[in-house]
Amino acid sequence: MVISQNIISFIGGGLSPDSTKQYGIYEKSLHQKDGLSVFVADVGERDVIVAEKALSFSGEPFSAGGKQWTLAEQNHENAKVLRALFPFTAPVSVLKKPRTVGVGDRLGIATSGHIRVFEKYDAYPILAQQSIRELTLTNRTFEDVLDCVSFAVFKENFTKGFGADGDHLKTPAEVEYAISCGYTMITLDCSEHIRNGVETMTDEEVLSEYIGNPALEEKYVGKSFDVDGETVAFDKMSFARMCLVYNEAIDFAAGIYTQFFAGKEDALDFEISIDETATPTEPAQHFYVANELISRGVRPATVAPRFCGEFQKGIDYIGDLSQFEKDFKVHAAIARHFGYKISVHSGSDKFSVFPAVGQYTDGNFHLKTAGTNWLEAMKIVAKRAPSLYREVHGYALGYAFAEARKYYHVTTNLAAIPSLDTLSDEELPNLFDNNDARQLIHITYGLILNEKDETGKFVYKDRLYSVWREHAGDYADALENHIGKHLEKVYDGFRK
Ligand SMILES: [Zn+2]
Repeated sequence: MVISQNIISFIGGGLSPDSTKQYGIYEKSLHQKDGLSVFVADVGERDVIVAEKALSFSGEPFSAGGKQWTLAEQNHENAKVLRALFPFTAPVSVLKKPRTVGVGDRLGIATSGHIRVFEKYDAYPILAQQSIRELTLTNRTFEDVLDCVSFAVFKENFTKGFGADGDHLKTPAEVEYAISCGYTMITLDCSEHIRNGVETMTDEEVLSEYIGNPALEEKYVGKSFDVDGETVAFDKMSFARMCLVYNEAIDFAAGIYTQFFAGKEDALDFEISIDETATPTEPAQHFYVANELISRGVRPATVAPRFCGEFQKGIDYIGDLSQFEKDFKVHAAIARHFGYKISVHSGSDKFSVFPAVGQYTDGNFHLKTAGTNWLEAMKIVAKRAPSLYREVHGYALGYAFAEARKYYHVTTNLAAIPSLDTLSDEELPNLFDNNDARQLIHITYGLILNEKDETGKFVYKDRLYSVWREHAGDYADALENHIGKHLEKVYDGFRK
C-alpha cells in the first residue's frame, strides 16, 4: 500500500502527542523501545503498526523524518514481535488475583471497551477467552483471538496485565493447542466424563452399578465435614450416586492436570468446569470432587459448579433466588476451604445474582461473560445501520434460529418478539430489552457471521464489521457501560 501522508506528516512533525488526533494516530499507542519509536495508525479500513525498522516488524519499508520505518500489518507474525518487545501485550497468569472476569470477544473488536472497565475496577480481565465451539462458529483460531487482544492492549497502553483462557476444552489435544498458543488459563470441561441420568435411577439400579471402594467409603460415608462454617454430610446412597456421576471426571481432570499443569501453576491457571451437566451440582458433590482432586495433588485456580436455577445465555437468572443464595454460600465456603475461587459461567446479564456472588465469596471470584459482548455489538447495528439490522434479524428468525436451537438450551418464545414491520428505526434498539429477541440474536451469531451467497461471499459479515469499525467509539462506550454494570453489581455485594 501507499504510505499515507498522515503518517509521513506525523513522523515529520516529531511524533508529537498533540498531533495524534489530526493524523489518525492512536495517542496511547505511542511507545518507545530502546529509543526506537512505534505507534498504531488508523488508515481507514484498518489499523496498522508503524515502527522504526530496527524493531524488526515485517512489512513495507519507507523513510520519513530522516529514519527508516516499517509499515506493519496486524498479523500473527507481527503479534509475536510485539509480544516479545512489549511483554505487557502478552497474557499472564491472573487467576490468583482476588477478582477476575472473563470477557470473551468473539468478534475481535471489543478489547478497547473492555479495557476501560478494568482501568476503573481492581478486577483483572481475561481478555482472550474462547471455546472451541466459538472458534468454529466464528472461523477463528486461538492465535487470532489472542493477537487481536495483544494489538488492542498495545494500542490502549493497558499495562495492568491480562489472561487468556482456552475455554471449555474437552481433550488433551485441545489443551495442548491452547497452551502452545501462549494461553495462560485452561478451562477443562469435564462434561463428557460426567454421567447424566443417574438422578433418575432407583437405589437398586445405583447399587448394582456402584463398585464399592472401602477406602473411599471409610473416608466419606456417614461422615460430615465442617467447611468454613458450613457442614457437608454424606450417606451411603448419595455417596454411591455421586461416585457414579463424578468418578470418571475426577480421573480425567487429575490426568490432564498431571500432564500439563503440575509444577507450572505459577504461569498456568487450571479451571475445572463441571457446569455443563444435566442437574445442578449439589454442595456435597462439589466437596467430594474437590477433596478427591486436592488429595491427588491437583491445584485448581477455579472450579465452576453448575448452580441451581437457569443460567441461560444473555438474559438474567431464572429461578429461586433464595435457593441460589443458600447453595452458593456453601459452594463459596468449599472453594475457600480448598484454596481456589468459584467460577461463575454464563455470567452475561445475571444481574440479580451478582450481589450474592460478591457477598458470599467476599470479593474472591471469577466471572465469565461472552455473549453479551456480541449482543452489544448488534445493538450498535440496530442503532447505526437499521436496514442492515432488519436484514440480519429476519435471517435469524428464519433458518438460523431453527438451526442454532439444536446447540443451545434456551426457552425462547419467538412469538414474544415484536414484528419489525411494527417498529420504527428508532425503536429497533429497544429489541435488546426483550429477552426473547436477545436470545434470538445471541444464539444465531455463528450462522449470521458465516452466511454466504452463491458466489461464496459473506452476506452480512463484512458489512457488519464495517459498521462496527465506523462506530468503534460507540461500541467501546456501550461495553464500558454494560460490562461495568456487571462489575458494579458484584462489587455491591462485598464493598461496604
Ligand atoms: Zn461453562
